[in-house]
Amino acid sequence: MSQSETVRKHKEYLFPAVSMYYQEPIALVKGEGPWVWDDQGNKYLDGFGGVLTVSVGHANPKVTAAIVKQVKELVHPSALYANKPQSDLAERLSKLAPGNLKKTFFTSSGTEANETAVAAARSATGRIPLVVLRHSYSGRSAQTLAMCGQSSWKKNVNLMPGIHHAHAPYCYRCPFNLQYPECGLKCAEDIEELILTETGGEIAAFFAETVIGAGGFIVPPPGYFEKAAGIARKYGGLFISDEVQAAWGRTGDHMFGISHWKVTPDVLTSAKGMGNGTPIGLTIATPEVADKYPGITFATFGGNPVSCSAASAVIDVIEDNNLVKNCAVVGKHLGERFAQLKEKHPIVGDARGLGMMQALELVKDRKTKEPNPKATAAVFEETKKRGVLIGKGGVWGNVIRTGMMLNSTKEEADMLADAIDAGLTLAGKM
Ligand code: PMP
Repeated sequence: MSQSETVRKHKEYLFPAVSMYYQEPIALVKGEGPWVWDDQGNKYLDGFGGVLTVSVGHANPKVTAAIVKQVKELVHPSALYANKPQSDLAERLSKLAPGNLKKTFFTSSGTEANETAVAAARSATGRIPLVVLRHSYSGRSAQTLAMCGQSSWKKNVNLMPGIHHAHAPYCYRCPFNLQYPECGLKCAEDIEELILTETGGEIAAFFAETVIGAGGFIVPPPGYFEKAAGIARKYGGLFISDEVQAAWGRTGDHMFGISHWKVTPDVLTSAKGMGNGTPIGLTIATPEVADKYPGITFATFGGNPVSCSAASAVIDVIEDNNLVKNCAVVGKHLGERFAQLKEKHPIVGDARGLGMMQALELVKDRKTKEPNPKATAAVFEETKKRGVLIGKGGVWGNVIRTGMMLNSTKEEADMLADAIDAGLTLAGKM
């Protein structure tokens, strides 16, 4: 039983669907850089960053200072008036974002960002059908839930037409039992048949996470997005990149994950790490798309100066400290450690990731690839005992996900990998 009164109240007064990690859940009370403390005085290395959201460290001094300054000046003017943090951030984003993404609509979450992107694509094209991906997570509104490709998130009554799930570019479990590159990117090619058989032959958009996050950090192979976006465009569709998890340097080498592929989206969404924990959602589109958004629209908290000041400070911290590069270097190191864990532990079926999105998929048997959520749970308990917090994902709950801070060191990555190593040793004996 948890000793925490906060955990007890959580269980008693919140919707039970708001489930917590660990047999004995923890209540966090303090964070500093990559560290967090629970209300029992235990200190942990935070290897998941509040689901890839605390991007530049807990209580980052620059971000905190920007928030405090703004809170003292003006918290909520509403979107009926211009505010400088919002205008300045939108201008900066138009210079940072790939391709011709120039115009922004701010909201408070990834869900809203994706809703906005879909609405924008539908009004710009005059078409309804969307091609989305199996294994994806897109949000918790009726529509973004319907777009999700994972049953555990879709238990609620869900009736939303116009959404078509393509096979995921999931090389470890290739839906066509093929191998890259001989596969010829069959998963992308199949989108054409999906459009020709499930829709009237025209779509509004192909919508995809750059790296499928909650689905277990599934990284599409080289050439995938070029081909998939090409097919979407052939049938009148736009290409929407969901970078709620993958933006802001997290994938290393580029500010935006999609820049790893040679294609630019018509709309890009983000949230999470952009605000380092302050609520913010971003939908950035080409002027051709943004200008066709019909009527008037309004999000009460969208573009609020506190979140926008925080986001500007986050981008400052990323740029001033070369964190896009750091993410590539430390992420590569962690990826190599994970590859070694795969060699060492037969229950690791796959080690994969990009930058600081690194994952291990656990299986009962390498040949059958039968998912092993029990082992994942055991690794969770053991890493927690060793003072390390990690994340979970995948349709079968069998993927260990890590999303360390962008400013993590190799030593912190080693601490994380060592704890997982110990957890895998234990889980392997079960
Ligand atoms: N898209 C992706 C890729 C996500 O990972 C999430 C959240 N996990 C969302 C959208 C929804 O974001 P939010 O929870 O902020 O609404």
